[in-house]
Amino acid sequence: MKKALVCGAGGFIGGHLVNRLKSEGYWVRGVDIKHNEYKNGNADEFIIGDLTDPLVCKQVLEGGFDEVYQLAADMGGAGYIFTGENDAAVMHNSVLCNVNMLHESQKAGVKKIFYSSSACMYPEYNQNEPENPKCSEESAYPAAPDSEYGWEKLFSERLYLTYQRNLGIQVKIARFHNIFGPQGTWKGGREKAPAAICRKVIEAEDGGSIQIWGDGKQTRSFLFIDECIEGVRRLMESDFSGPVNIGSEEMISINDFARMIIGISGKNVSINNIPGPQGVRGRNSDNALIQEKLGWAPSLPLKDGIAKTYNWIAQQAAKEVELV
Ligand code: NAD
Repeated sequence: MKKALVCGAGGFIGGHLVNRLKSEGYWVRGVDIKHNEYKNGNADEFIIGDLTDPLVCKQVLEGGFDEVYQLAADMGGAGYIFTGENDAAVMHNSVLCNVNMLHESQKAGVKKIFYSSSACMYPEYNQNEPENPKCSEESAYPAAPDSEYGWEKLFSERLYLTYQRNLGIQVKIARFHNIFGPQGTWKGGREKAPAAICRKVIEAEDGGSIQIWGDGKQTRSFLFIDECIEGVRRLMESDFSGPVNIGSEEMISINDFARMIIGISGKNVSINNIPGPQGVRGRNSDNALIQEKLGWAPSLPLKDGIAKTYNWIAQQAAKEVELV
C-alpha cells in the first residue's frame, strides 16, 4: 500500500486531496495547524503540527512516505493577500513550511514531493488588460508578481527545482488558478471571490444588492475542486515536473460571474461596485502545456461547479441561522 503525507490537510484543497488518495487505496497521514473546518478528509492519521518548525516536519515524516503533498501556506482571498497587512506573516510562514518540509522530505528519502504554487506568481505587467491576460508558463520571467504571496510562491518553486537538480528528489509543481468548491472557506475574511459572492447573494434580500470590489470588469477564471485534484494526481503520476498551470480557460468578468451566481439563486439582486482590493485586471489559465504534457486539461463548465458550491454554502448558512 502506498503512503502519502498531505501537508495542509486541514485546508480546503488538502481535505479533498486526502479523500481522493484514500479512494485510490493510499494510507494517508494529514498534518495541519488546525483541524478541517468542515470535517472534510478521512485521513488514517491526522497530526496537529506547525510546519514552520523543522522538528515537527521531521516528526510528521516518521514511518516513511512514498509521496508528500505540500499544500500548507498562510493564505486567503484578496482581503487577506492584497491589503498588505499580512505580508510578513505570508512570507515568513509559507517560506518556512516549504524550506523545512522539502529539506526534511529529502533527508527522509521521500521519492516525490508535490508543491502547490499559484497563478499569483505571474507578472503583473502581463495582466493589465482584462480581455487579454497572458499566463503561459514561460511568461513567468522577468518576474513581477503583484503581491508578496506571489513572490513567495515563485521563490519556493525555484527552491523545489534546486532540490530536484542537486539532491535528486522528484518534484511536481502546479500553479493553481482560483480553485473553488464545497468545503471551502466561505466567511471570516479568508474566503475567495466565488465563495464570497455566493455568500453575499445568499444573504441579500430579494430586490436588494450585493457589493463587488472594483469596477467588476476585472476578469478571472475559476476551477472546480474535483478537476484541480484530478490535475494534481495526473501530474504526480506523469514524468513531467512542471511548473504547470492547473486552471480553467473559461475567463469571465467579476460582474458577469456575480450575475451567473445571482441567476443560480433565482433572486432579484443588483450589483453595487465599490472600491476594494482586487489584484490584477485580468487573469486566465493557459492550458496548452498541461494538454501537451498530460494529454488532459480541465473541461467542466464554470456554471456546473458554481451551482454545486452555491447549494453547499446555502446549506451552511441555513445551519447557522438554525443555531442562532
Ligand atoms: P487553505 O488555507 O484552505 O489551506 C492551507 C492550509 O495550510 C490551512 O489549513 C492552514 O491551516 C495550513 N497551514 C498554514 N500554515 C501552516 C503551518 N505553519 N503548519 C501547518 N499547516 C499550516 O488553502 P487552500 O485553498 O486549500 O490552498 C492550498 C494550497 O494551494 C496553498 O499552498 C495555496 O497557496 C495554494 N493555492 C490555492 C489556490 C486556491 O484558489 N485555493 C490558488 C492558488 C494556490
